[in-house]
Amino acid sequence: MVLLTHINPDGDAIGSMLGLYWFLRQRGCTVNMAVPNEIPQFLAWMNGAEQILDFRGQKQQVREELERADLVFCLDFNEPDRLGGIREILENTDVLKIMIDHHPHPTEFTDHLISETSVSSTAELVYRMMKELDDRDSVDRTIAECLFVGIMTDTGCFSFNSSEPETFILVSELLERGIDKDRIHSLVYDNYSEERMRLLGYSLQKKMVVLPEHRTAYIYLDRNEMEKHNHLSGDTEGFVNYPFSIKGIRVTALFLEKKDHVKISFRSKGDFPINRFAGKYFNGGGHDNAAGGESTQSLEATIRRFETLIADHSDEINRLP
Ligand code: 5GP
Ligand code: MN
Repeated sequence: MVLLTHINPDGDAIGSMLGLYWFLRQRGCTVNMAVPNEIPQFLAWMNGAEQILDFRGQKQQVREELERADLVFCLDFNEPDRLGGIREILENTDVLKIMIDHHPHPTEFTDHLISETSVSSTAELVYRMMKELDDRDSVDRTIAECLFVGIMTDTGCFSFNSSEPETFILVSELLERGIDKDRIHSLVYDNYSEERMRLLGYSLQKKMVVLPEHRTAYIYLDRNEMEKHNHLSGDTEGFVNYPFSIKGIRVTALFLEKKDHVKISFRSKGDFPINRFAGKYFNGGGHDNAAGGESTQSLEATIRRFETLIADHSDEINRLP
């Protein structure tokens, strides 16, 4: 079996992958894991993370594992583009594919689809599935720790996507497995470099633009600025949420200049589905209030376009409570 997750993997992607990995291993399955690009620094401590193949440096091995596999799980994404370079290989195998995901509007590219958009995270869905499969005693501490990382990170430490009582019941079951919640929180959030902290300070001080008339704020960083701060993958995780601390802000964005494109993160509050905005204008998607996309224009042109589009949607945003 091979477990796959999306490009720029986050805590839910890696947490559900590793949780399922240890669960299947317990059942005697031969399991391999692969990601399209690197695992962020703040997840590298997780049990089993070192066994995940990174497609960029291990293309041939990923190809061989996929060609040999009898089953592939696609976790925490719902459209094949999110697989980056792995997409083409997967599409050219006739292996049985199962998708487990919680994003809205799934594309039917797998043989089986386990899609539930009301859950907090893919990790929660994976845990529910484990419980359906057998009694929860087989969910040991390692598995519980992985799943907890997924739920904790995808809900912003239970600040969104976590209003269903069931999520807390499931989390309490994970706590019963003996996981150390405080330690896990610390390993994920208190594990950055000094440079990352300085980059955050610089971003807020110098690179945040507030558009109060559109209740929008965004941060933008070019490659030079990231390099100067020794930027590592995952360092800008969470930056997009900071402008919400400003009273009245309902839409935020983070623009990161990459080698040949601009990667954009979008967030919104309330009934302004930012995934539709990301999909319509920036070739992306995601959840109602958390989405991403990209642009092949320059950083400056991308931002100008964003400002124009936001102005077009201003009435809608200003109507939000
Ligand atoms: P982030 O801003 O943390 O990268 O992503 C937020 C959410 O949007 C995640 O659920 C992620 O899976 C989704 N997302 C991010 N970038 C893209 C993209 O380019 N395409 C699609 N379809 N979803 C994305
Ligand atoms: Mn997720």
